[in-house]
Amino acid sequence: MTEHNGTRIAALTLHDVISETQRSASHGDGFYSITVTEFEAILSRLKRLGYRTASSREFIAWQQGKQDLPKRTVVLTFDDGYKNHLERVAPLLVRYRFGGTFFVTLDLIGRPGYVTWEDLKKMVFLGMEIGSHGVSHRPLSQLSRDEMEREIVESKKVLEEKLGVPITAIAAPGGFWNRPIAEAVEKAGYEAAWVSTIGTNGPQTHPLALRRIVVRRPFSIERVVSMVEGWQPAFWWAVGQQQLIWLLKKMLGVYWYEQLKRRIVPNA
Ligand SMILES: [Zn+2]
Repeated sequence: MTEHNGTRIAALTLHDVISETQRSASHGDGFYSITVTEFEAILSRLKRLGYRTASSREFIAWQQGKQDLPKRTVVLTFDDGYKNHLERVAPLLVRYRFGGTFFVTLDLIGRPGYVTWEDLKKMVFLGMEIGSHGVSHRPLSQLSRDEMEREIVESKKVLEEKLGVPITAIAAPGGFWNRPIAEAVEKAGYEAAWVSTIGTNGPQTHPLALRRIVVRRPFSIERVVSMVEGWQPAFWWAVGQQQLIWLLKKMLGVYWYEQLKRRIVPNA
């Protein structure tokens, strides 16, 4: 067994990484897009602080005591499978000698603005980890049990067949998560599920409810780095924001919440 020494590991969630001038052309959610300059600022700051990255698989191996990770380790996750993840994100990660875990939605593969199967194969070749983000990107909590299970099982199976690598991690579309979903995920053979609860992860954190810190607007490099470093006040701010979002989702329902976001964020 390795010693965990009270280490807690942060995971960041990123979405579309757009160019300075580009407005997200995809189903792109303006709340969650950051520019490539902002993204590189995160990487260069983490590098200077001495961080290394771990994939979801390495993180689980660490939790299980099979692998050591230095105190300054961060998990970089990317949701939705945007085309930019191959074009901008993966090359930057390689340049910084970092790695990432990319959660892709089956139905979006090959659509305009999203990665193709060839793109995904290139990402695997570059050493990136691919995970499931469901089949249709519908919130799993809103589906019938059969449909929910199908999204979880089918996405893993098809990704594994097409890419020839084991798919051991899943991220819940929209962050919607509950016990039946976790049970179905476990039954399907996943080792890790990454959710939208803000926080860091220790050796005891449930591997099917791993916390992540979403990088979103208003963007602040200081806030992102503070949270990776585990600085509490930055979490209080983020949890407050998160609670507001969940409250709005609950009040308005998912559909109207999405409509609201589109009104608040131009071109989203
Ligand atoms: Zn998503």
